[in-house]
Amino acid sequence: MSSRIRPDCISFGENSVPSRLREKMSQRFFVESPIAADRASLVGAETHHLSHVMRAGVGDEVTLFDGSGAEFTARVAKIGRSSVDLDVLSRHEIDRELPFEIVMGVALPKGDRQRWLIEKCVELGVTHVVPLQTARGVAQPVQHALERLRRTVIEASKQCGRNRLMTLTEPMPFNDYVASIPTESIGLIAHPAAPEHTPMHRLLAEVTPLAAYYLAIGPEGGFSNEETSVAASAQWQFVTLGPRILRIETAALALAAMIAGRGP
Ligand code: SAH
Repeated sequence: MSSRIRPDCISFGENSVPSRLREKMSQRFFVESPIAADRASLVGAETHHLSHVMRAGVGDEVTLFDGSGAEFTARVAKIGRSSVDLDVLSRHEIDRELPFEIVMGVALPKGDRQRWLIEKCVELGVTHVVPLQTARGVAQPVQHALERLRRTVIEASKQCGRNRLMTLTEPMPFNDYVASIPTESIGLIAHPAAPEHTPMHRLLAEVTPLAAYYLAIGPEGGFSNEETSVAASAQWQFVTLGPRILRIETAALALAAMIAGRGP
């Protein structure tokens, strides 16, 4: 078998096993290791999704992505107990990313609101989420919680069509995050209304499009005075989202949506 992926799409007859995929041929599955040849395998939760949830059979055609930016048309070749082998038929460079980076530094909320925030960040096109360790924040997720949230990133990418995975970094101290911002980017810290703070929509109308937007959203207790002074001395801009106090995830998504609105 050749190790090159054929660039054409192949259609099938009616002889494959009946499955839900017949009506929903665009179903997407995530492959853990980069797809470089004409075979690929699904493992873990993806195997379960393909064989039990979608009830796919040998011969069914599905879409694969490996997080590297492309997606692939593939045909199910073999379904095992814990893995599925597929023949990769074609590769398509389909870019659904924003033309700039959004880096979401956020003191993650607790429980289910955390998962919800991560899911919506993926949908809106956020590039990286950085959980922030702040003076008034609750403990940021430990390793196994981060792994669960990374699974949420994959599920959301399957649903919304992103071919690149949003990264979720290890928790980072607020001061380090503020200092990490590169040139060609702007740092925006969300802080409830104060007369000298710029409304977010006005600030966006004033700044020319940039390569990266670094955001900082505080914990339920808000940023401490020391943290706001650190941000001010590092030239971060203070932005407000109106006179109401928003939940962490509402503030985060409102900022991300306003910035994403500058993209396609
Ligand atoms: N009691 C806190 C509120 C925290 S709300 C305080 O007074 O600061 C959690 C985070 O959401 C805030 O730290 C801020 O980053 C963001 N946020 C909430 N409402 C906001 C608003 N109206 N404008 C800008 N940011 C807001």
